[in-house]
Amino acid sequence: MNRKYKLIRSRLLLPLSEELGLSTRIEDGYVLIDGEKIKEVGEYTPEVGERIVREGGNDLQVIGSEKEGDLREEDVPCLNGVVLPGFVKAHGHDHESPLIGIAKDEPLTDWLDHAVNVFTGFLNENAEELTERFGDSANLITYTKARLDDIYYGITSALTHHCNFNKYHVAELVEANVRAGTKIIIAVGSQDRNYDPRILDTPEEAVKRMDKYTAEFGDRERTWIIPGPDQVFSNSAEMIKALKKWARAHGTLFHMHSSEEPNTTAWFYQQYLYSPVGYLQQAGVLDDMTILAHQVNNTPVDLDILKETGTNIVHNPLANTILGSGMPPVIEMLEMGIPVAISTDGSGSSDSQNMLSAARLASQYQKAFHKNARLLPAQQVLEMVTVVPAKMLRLNTGMLSAGRDADLVLIDLRRPNLTPTRIDNVVENLIWAADGSEVRWVIANGKLLKDDYRFLTLDEEKIKDNIRQLSELLIEYKKSHQEIKATGARQKEG
Ligand SMILES: [Zn+2]
Repeated sequence: MNRKYKLIRSRLLLPLSEELGLSTRIEDGYVLIDGEKIKEVGEYTPEVGERIVREGGNDLQVIGSEKEGDLREEDVPCLNGVVLPGFVKAHGHDHESPLIGIAKDEPLTDWLDHAVNVFTGFLNENAEELTERFGDSANLITYTKARLDDIYYGITSALTHHCNFNKYHVAELVEANVRAGTKIIIAVGSQDRNYDPRILDTPEEAVKRMDKYTAEFGDRERTWIIPGPDQVFSNSAEMIKALKKWARAHGTLFHMHSSEEPNTTAWFYQQYLYSPVGYLQQAGVLDDMTILAHQVNNTPVDLDILKETGTNIVHNPLANTILGSGMPPVIEMLEMGIPVAISTDGSGSSDSQNMLSAARLASQYQKAFHKNARLLPAQQVLEMVTVVPAKMLRLNTGMLSAGRDADLVLIDLRRPNLTPTRIDNVVENLIWAADGSEVRWVIANGKLLKDDYRFLTLDEEKIKDNIRQLSELLIEYKKSHQEIKATGARQKEG
């Protein structure tokens, strides 16, 4: 039963909020939830517990307690964990969830042609047969798995870049998110050049698609629709301008991949005589409502342009290292005041949605590269997966304070890898010792999504079984399918 008030009490609590202090660590803390919002956050005392139990009455649910009704203060367990805001993923792709481990050890555009675009093309070509077999569209199954992955790792809000064929399948992503109970910003893809010819369209068509999806899904709870042209190389200036104009008219964010792979970035420069950032600046689309994923390769003036325009960057260290793209100059960006969030990217390239391992790698890489252990401390990278992306995405989440959305996780501190965890090392242990699987409770918008490791909104076994079958079918399909050589600079090799 979903009660109006929820109380969670834990051995440690990290509010990560401006009100209580970004680096405040509370011993024996609690969060009281009223409906979808946080009502109170602070230090737990028997007096606080008594008051909450008395006032909440039968409308109160105590997390971790089996007792139904007639609650007393003694029934409020202090869970051996750390409560913190749900992670906010500022860049990912829900269509890649069945693709882990496929087409590895190759760079971005080869991987897109060998794995991602083959898979999404396969779903598109066989849509009817697959729907008959599974009873749900294969796209919906794929996106639901991505929602399951997010809840597994404690991600309660995500920006999903819905690229390539997925731009035709927004309805299924909306449905998957409604079922899961998470929050989602859907960046609807587009492309009109240098890409698989089956999905090329015009700026007029892309704008019409935005109008259609906004009319259909704009008022759906926990769902936002924004333009998300796939890549700078696959979208002309006309396309980019038209979609940014749409975003400005509708007051939405604007999202794109930029300067990810060195070869593609170099080829782009030769072809269009601008760096991707220079090209976007010429098109007039850079401002504080634009969020660029990656930005690994930069000319000397690119960072100045990003700084001057207030453009936001999402750094995806797992994908950047696996695809051998290189790493962006995160320290220089931060020193200049460019907003940088840390994310995972899609599971096809990262190959998991473990936000803590993304935060760890971001820190680890910069420390090693600059030979300076003081760079990107644990507290800072934890903020870069919670507070910072929430601000970037204009969401009322990412910190625990009264009036914020009730999005939080409890990480289990009973595990050997997190023992001993104390108030003075909890943030450090989360970044350096947690493996990501310790997320025991997940609450989003005041609703329980994961209860003592059990998924409440999604059928874990059924989703995993469907995904296994889908992945077998894809392997069969790949045997008889011609190789695609359509993405970016690869076209000239084809
Ligand atoms: Zn991406």
